Amino acid sequence: MARVLRVFDFDDTLAKSVSYIYVNHKDGTETKMDPAEYAKYEPRPGDEYDFRDFNRMLNKPQVIKQNVNLLKKMLSSGDKKVTILTARALGFPVKYWFKKELGLNVYVVPLGNADPKAKADWIEKHIEKGYTDIAFMDDSIKNVKAVQRLQQKYPNVTIKSVLAVEHLSSEEKTELLENYISGQVQTYL
Ligand SMILES: [Mg+2]
Repeated sequence: MARVLRVFDFDDTLAKSVSYIYVNHKDGTETKMDPAEYAKYEPRPGDEYDFRDFNRMLNKPQVIKQNVNLLKKMLSSGDKKVTILTARALGFPVKYWFKKELGLNVYVVPLGNADPKAKADWIEKHIEKGYTDIAFMDDSIKNVKAVQRLQQKYPNVTIKSVLAVEHLSSEEKTELLENYISGQVQTYL
């Protein structure tokens, strides 16, 4: 029987909170980005990231309903391992919010690392543990691609790496759909 793993990113996938990533550039300037901007940001040499907003309790979080409903559905079927996998360094604020606001007990893994490879590595570890049916959802195309790449290495494992699109503008969705049609992206659109 397939061993099933369902993995969700948190920020901008399940909820949107008011929090920024601060990038300190080599020349001494600082750029402040929201998670959607950060997801698309191409790093420059010498950049240093400051994730201080993500180490606090959540600031005005808004549920991304469609994806939270999917999470609920996954949690209610007892045969799946369901994990919220976040680049945040602290899992507690996320876990606390789910319990308090939605009455949900969720398992949160804080990686403390925003490198897409960190998420792919975590998933790969679970493939090595014997999971054979994996779905991953994230609003960062870099993370989605990093996880999708595992498919080549593990052709016998079902890996569905899905881009969360709720944070995108309608123009961005159109662009994504065009890429999707041309075969570059896998999505639920
Ligand atoms: Mg995210």
